[in-house]
Amino acid sequence: MVTQQLERRGIRDQRVLQVMATTPRELFVPGVPTSLAYDDRALPIDAGQTISQPYMVARMTELLQVEPGDRILEIGTGSGYQAAVLARLGAKVTSIERLPDLAEAARERLRELGIEGVDVRVGDGSTGEPEGAPWDGIVVTAGAPSIPDALREQLAVGARLVIPVGPRYQQDLVVVERHGPADWREWSDGAVIFVPLVGEGGWSEPDPREP
Ligand code: SAM
Repeated sequence: MVTQQLERRGIRDQRVLQVMATTPRELFVPGVPTSLAYDDRALPIDAGQTISQPYMVARMTELLQVEPGDRILEIGTGSGYQAAVLARLGAKVTSIERLPDLAEAARERLRELGIEGVDVRVGDGSTGEPEGAPWDGIVVTAGAPSIPDALREQLAVGARLVIPVGPRYQQDLVVVERHGPADWREWSDGAVIFVPLVGEGGWSEPDPREP
């Protein structure tokens, strides 16, 4: 996976490559044969949601520029895989999941794997987690119709927000970097497809494929 998908497609951060090489992705996709768990594609998890493709996890993590000790907010815990990668890079992760069953399963999985430093919470993360702000990085793993202002405001100066933004089933991966109290710069890293971010700062209706 690391050589064929991540390095070949341009992931250069050696720490990200090393962590992804040693985080057992198959344990985050119960019911999926191990032979498919490392394929370069998103895979279904429970509740009509997905675990992102390995390249996307690597790219979002690389864009966040995580340093050990950073306090990172993840919105969309899903399987817990992205949170595990962030924690294994030394980040203190707060991860918010809208669906309680997914949050509970991810919490349990991380505990069983002995991955520390992830606080999984249930709730609408589309407006962030103001009590924990400012964050050293925010990663949103679901697609938003626009960038929620609350997320910009919760970034520390120098920190980045990585978020898929655009129509419901096709977005741009947008990077927002805070340069000062009222100075944010943003750019697109390319086209992506994520399940919708559902909530106050996202879409009002859940994905119709949700059970
Ligand atoms: N990061 C996940 C992983 O590593 O498996 C993949 C996340 S999946 C692509 C997107 C997740 O975002 C889903 O589990 C979905 O329930 C969650 N989600 C959608 N809207 C949300 C919201 N407003 N707050 C928190 N989680 C949300």
